[in-house]
Amino acid sequence: MPTSPSAARAAVSTLTVDEAQSRILARIAPLEPTEVGLLDALGAVLAEDATADRDVPPFRNSAMDGYAVRGADVRQAGVTLRVVGSVSAGALPERTVGAREAMRIMTGAPMPDGADTVVRVEDTDNGVEVVTINAVTPEGIAVRQAGEDLRRGETVLARGTVLRHPEIGVLASIGRAKVRVVRRPNVAVLSTGDELVDIDEEPGPGQIRDANRYSLAAAVRASGCAAFELGIARDSADDLRHALGNAAFGDLVVTSGGVSVGDHDHVKPVVDAMGQMDFWSIAIRPGRPLAFGELRTKRGAVPIFGLPGNPVSALLTFEVFVRPALLKMAGRTKLHRPRVEARLLDRIDKPTGLRMFARGIHDAAAGTVRSTGAQGSGILRSMSLANCLIDLPEAASTAAPGDTVSVLLTDRMEDH
Ligand code: AMP
Ligand code: MG
Repeated sequence: MPTSPSAARAAVSTLTVDEAQSRILARIAPLEPTEVGLLDALGAVLAEDATADRDVPPFRNSAMDGYAVRGADVRQAGVTLRVVGSVSAGALPERTVGAREAMRIMTGAPMPDGADTVVRVEDTDNGVEVVTINAVTPEGIAVRQAGEDLRRGETVLARGTVLRHPEIGVLASIGRAKVRVVRRPNVAVLSTGDELVDIDEEPGPGQIRDANRYSLAAAVRASGCAAFELGIARDSADDLRHALGNAAFGDLVVTSGGVSVGDHDHVKPVVDAMGQMDFWSIAIRPGRPLAFGELRTKRGAVPIFGLPGNPVSALLTFEVFVRPALLKMAGRTKLHRPRVEARLLDRIDKPTGLRMFARGIHDAAAGTVRSTGAQGSGILRSMSLANCLIDLPEAASTAAPGDTVSVLLTDRMEDH
């Protein structure tokens, strides 16, 4: 194996995190647009301008349960008006409202012509034949104008908008049962290792449970993408080749383990045989070995990330390298988490020359951050306790209490 072309590349490529990120993003393009049912568009990026087909609301209607009146009649409290009918939501008023008249009206019901104001029922005696108004009511109040939310013909959501639940509501209100969005990436997730057993099995001597396939599939989903799991490939070239053959049906492949320089690390040579893999030694802690390349398929090149096997390294390199790539594929333009400065509360030692992402707990109110404690790359709990990553530059050898450090808010949406 030392003679494989990618092993040779391994020796020469040491990249900074920023270099690796931009190389990766340069190789990733957004997927094509597709039409989906409205609810399936949640989290996706709109691939068209969405235009209102009619005014929303489509007609003038009441914002309150009460009485539709003429504003001129209710400038003083204590007036009594003749009740000329009633209109509920979904019905149409049977007549107009004249001077010194009132029509009972329910929230959402169309306003009768002649009326311009709604007196809420709480401000009346709730009368049936006649009604007494107990409060001065400003003219025009509690009436929703046609088109006050969205105007017919107006572009209400522009192409490129990330569809969160409020946007799904806006699209529903303009009648979009289907919308064009950038297709959601479908990601193959594969674990490698002879020592791994699935989580419903009893680990035997020397065996451990496969945590990465679950954490990574969950990270894929948390990135708004679909994950399909390919199980565990054993540390043999044949097994890996078979698994990657299936993985290539995805839009992107994420493997974990088997990318170090151990005797049973087959990911690199196998991918080289099925496409092309660059093995990068990234100046990062944790997660130094990372392989990135592509599988050749009939559908074209499928990007593949070979993440390190240590559970923290796998998730951390997913966060730093894979997630931005998936977001770009999904048509997002904001690929980077919010970054803030905070005062460090504890001491973090790090190797000089490596960019370190320490798992941290950020207190926004206090403007402070502390590490989650032990930072070993096998201590998955450190990821679970964290709400941020403390981003320590290559040149530093330590960060001391009181230092101002840069913090990535990993439980917040990307903002740039
Ligand atoms: P590797 O990168 O294959 O050398 O693995 C590095 C370390 O991560 C080893 O201690 C592995 O046992 C562990 N590891 C690899 N894959 C997984 C996994 N899917 N779940 C949990 N630990 C793993
Ligand atoms: Mg392994």
